Amino acid sequence: MPDRNAHVVRPGDPDYRWALSGYSRRGWKAPREIVFACQPEHVSATVIRCREHGIPLVIRNSRFGQAEACFESGSIILDVSRINTITLARSGETVSVGAGATSLVAADVLSTRSVRVPMGMHPEVSLVGIALAGGVGMSCRSLGLVCDAVIEAEVVDTDGQLVRASFAENPDLFWALRGAGCAGFGIVTCLTLRTWPASPVVLFDVDWQHSDADQVWAAWQDWAPSTDRGLSSALSFDKNLVRLSGQFHGTEHRLLSLISPMLRTGAAVNVNTRRMSQRDAVRAFAEPEGPHPMLRWGAAVSGPATDFCAFPWRNSPYIMETTAHWASPTSEQSARAWTADARHLAAEWIDGLYAGWPDPDDPDWLKSAYGNNLSRLRRVHVRWDPYNVFRSRFGVGWD
Ligand SMILES: Cc1cc2nc3c(=O)[nH]c(=O)nc-3n(C[C@H](O)[C@H](O)[C@H](O)COP(=O)(O)OP(=O)(O)OC[C@H]3O[C@@H](n4cnc5c(N)ncnc54)[C@H](O)[C@@H]3O)c2cc1C
Repeated sequence: MPDRNAHVVRPGDPDYRWALSGYSRRGWKAPREIVFACQPEHVSATVIRCREHGIPLVIRNSRFGQAEACFESGSIILDVSRINTITLARSGETVSVGAGATSLVAADVLSTRSVRVPMGMHPEVSLVGIALAGGVGMSCRSLGLVCDAVIEAEVVDTDGQLVRASFAENPDLFWALRGAGCAGFGIVTCLTLRTWPASPVVLFDVDWQHSDADQVWAAWQDWAPSTDRGLSSALSFDKNLVRLSGQFHGTEHRLLSLISPMLRTGAAVNVNTRRMSQRDAVRAFAEPEGPHPMLRWGAAVSGPATDFCAFPWRNSPYIMETTAHWASPTSEQSARAWTADARHLAAEWIDGLYAGWPDPDDPDWLKSAYGNNLSRLRRVHVRWDPYNVFRSRFGVGWD
């Protein structure tokens, strides 16, 4: 049984529906209980219990992924979001981040020592959840992916043991966790990341009417790959506007000079720059209902060798997100059809899918997400989860 300090929610409890809710509105099957672990021992006890009794186990953290698609009747949801301690080394050179700590809280702690780590663009997503998928954000052209900054992981394995993984210790597990950490190798309770000195950044937006879309799109493709690596930018399209938004590590004056080729393209209707601390920049990118960005990477993302970790797409030039939001259930079908169409139209240019945005409708999801790394991941999985305790819809042990 889990330690009595773990909070357990069962059907009929007043907070049962809340305990199941998440960013995704996909329907779920009713689990038998949700265990809110507060420390690694609760995780170990739950893993051992599920393994001994053959109970399906679903891992959950800050609820921005698609764990709901993995719920099975009678399963136990193990929620690690309350394991959220952040410890900054006295030197400031490394930070250990508990599984559930959000980017927002991590940014607050890091700012006390004027250091930073690469982060995603949504401040409420757990930094560990992002890192396990790879971790794409506005610092990635200068610092790399979030997973590239990880130097050690603490993981509860299939036996319920807390093990460490790093370049020196359990390197096969460490390789898999960085980019395929959501695919069922163990439950990560803490990641340690190296840090970089933080300095103020400049955020910017440039808007054009949709009639300039083709011109802006072509100009951005010429300009974005070769610009300063301290400058990351995303291009978003919606029905009315094309928006170039981004972040620059440097001065406003230098930014305006760097983006001048884009400002000379078409007729920009709005140019907006804001200088702020790294910490405030993390808050500023909170746009969950925003448009559909294509983020240009390259630079530091394509620096490491392709076998540095399990993330397979570091040599792709862009990451593209197609999102649809709907207010009423009657719009769901057309919204889904729109995203399917968008993907179909782009199909010939798509190398693969990002593991952080799992697609339950993709019949070949594992290949789409892990590409040529899939066979190596399967070998690592056999070693680390021989009983398939961490089997999930998006995991390597699914088929
Ligand atoms: C609005 C929104 C914005 C996003 N922004 C970004 C972004 O800017 N950059 C980016 O890279 N990604 C982004 N993502 C994707 C996000 O990084 C992934 O969905 C990530 O998996 C979410 O982490 P979570 O803790 O919320 O996962 P949850 O939804 O809580 O869990 C999903 C799955 O992740 C795995 N998992 C989570 N935590 C652990 C753990 N500690 N140990 C083992 N497995 C675990 C489990 O398999 C679990 O079933 C975004 C997603 C959304 C919905």
